[in-house]
Amino acid sequence: MQIIREKKELADLILSYKKEHKTIGFVPTMGALHQGHISLVERAKEENDIVVVSVFVNPIQFNNPHDLQTYPRSLEKDVCMLTKVGCDLVFSPSEEEMYPKQESIQENFDFGLLEQVMEGASRPGHFFGVAVVVSRLFLMVNPDRAYFGEKDFQQLAIIQKMVRQRDFKVQVIPCPILRENDGLAMSSRNVRLSPEQREKAPQIYQVLKASNELVGKLSPQELKNWVLGEYKRLNLDVEYFEIANAITLESLTEWEKEQGSVGCVVVHFGNVRLIDNIKYF
Ligand code: AMP
Repeated sequence: MQIIREKKELADLILSYKKEHKTIGFVPTMGALHQGHISLVERAKEENDIVVVSVFVNPIQFNNPHDLQTYPRSLEKDVCMLTKVGCDLVFSPSEEEMYPKQESIQENFDFGLLEQVMEGASRPGHFFGVAVVVSRLFLMVNPDRAYFGEKDFQQLAIIQKMVRQRDFKVQVIPCPILRENDGLAMSSRNVRLSPEQREKAPQIYQVLKASNELVGKLSPQELKNWVLGEYKRLNLDVEYFEIANAITLESLTEWEKEQGSVGCVVVHFGNVRLIDNIKYF
């Protein structure tokens, strides 16, 4: 496995793969890898000749400096995990390499409602930062397929829209959420939970799962109230819970069976912010 830090070196390697007509699967990450990330890499490996993984903690997508500062970093361990799973190339650029100081960020995006609700409303500038880094990485890696987790459901919708808008020749592959045995969605941030918080955190998904049983009996608004009531009863610090159309992310008054309905939640444990979701149809 090659570990590359510079764009120029990456470009040379990508060119050599393209010359050999090898297909490239790409998994963008911020490192601190866990089995959830690895499941994306395994899928990429099954479907492509070459697998490229980027490891870059993207400063411009953090709206909270404390979150950026404390974001776990473990490149050595990440490299071990990626070697084991058969990744071909790790691209781990410096901040200067991605955002040269003498160049201002020129990109512009308009994702409409997709960037205004939920994470977009809670984290101003977050999706702009995501779109900038992913579009730059797409241009550098030029992948045939790119793999994104459904854990970041709204991010996936944004990336799909960006690919359509910019006409990137990449197939975006959504991958299911990987969970710990107790149901907690795997996340790089889980290591920052105290033992007590870690014990309580599976309640996030327990409530989502229980809500799935009530879909036929309640309207989206009634179900939303039920979920919020359950979280309150359990004393969880919920930032938001929304039930939305799985494509447009519009808030639902009636169940959307064709495009799908999704319940999205953010819960805080101290200053650790955890995200999760469930697909209802
Ligand atoms: P991150 O490093 O958090 O930016 O995540 C990199 C990619 O891994 C994103 O596409 C995430 O949605 C995906 N991912 C993170 N956690 C999980 C998980 N538990 N299951 C599946 N995919 C995940």
